[in-house]
Amino acid sequence: MHILLTNDDGISAPGLLALKQALDPLGKVTVVAPSRNYSAAGHRKTMHKPLRIDETQLSDGARAWVCSGAPSDCVALALLGFVKEKIDVVVSGINPHANLGQDVTYSGTVTAALEAVIAGVPGIAVSTEAGSPPNYAPTAQIAARIVQTVAQKGLPPNTLLNVNVPPQIRGGFRITRQGLRIYRDELVERLDPRGRPYYWIGGEWPSGVVEEGTDFWAMEHGHVSITPLQLDLTAYKALPIVERWFESER
Ligand code: MN
Repeated sequence: MHILLTNDDGISAPGLLALKQALDPLGKVTVVAPSRNYSAAGHRKTMHKPLRIDETQLSDGARAWVCSGAPSDCVALALLGFVKEKIDVVVSGINPHANLGQDVTYSGTVTAALEAVIAGVPGIAVSTEAGSPPNYAPTAQIAARIVQTVAQKGLPPNTLLNVNVPPQIRGGFRITRQGLRIYRDELVERLDPRGRPYYWIGGEWPSGVVEEGTDFWAMEHGHVSITPLQLDLTAYKALPIVERWFESER
């Protein structure tokens, strides 16, 4: 099996190394990861400037590729032919913060797996809520088990898996649906030394609705949350409503 590994925290992130080491026994692992932190970069395609890839080493000496682009760029470049050997599965992580609810559209970790799925390759995003010390080793082991299963069974077309591992694991795997994040963002306006305003998106750390069956619920109860996500964002329940509005325009 040939695994492409990336992340959104950058090539030197400890979560990437932990995942690389756990995936190594499964086959060949090719690492193509961003040169800097691209957390919350979303699903990005860099089209307005060149992208560079350089050979580098992880801190254990393993060979890796470092890319100037976003996580989704890393995956696109690899799958479009930078990596010559066929790739069977793309794994992204380990992100040190959970990617739950609507986080998935912001997350560079998740959108890297999304990019794989667009190219027809199974994608798996792996995140944990890092405590102190971080939970990387057990999360990496769990990720390896999930990768093995996906390698055997494949994934349905246009589907990726969003895996979140709680800081203290108190139960087994739960297959969940995407829950509802509650963001508590606040606009912070300050003045620069020349009197011009600048802005931060600040505020409190987000919470979420702990409803049974959701990713939030699984994490809250110490279960490993596996959410199958699809590319199709159509709001099927809204289709007939919007259809009725414009009936006379048909
Ligand atoms: Mn990140």
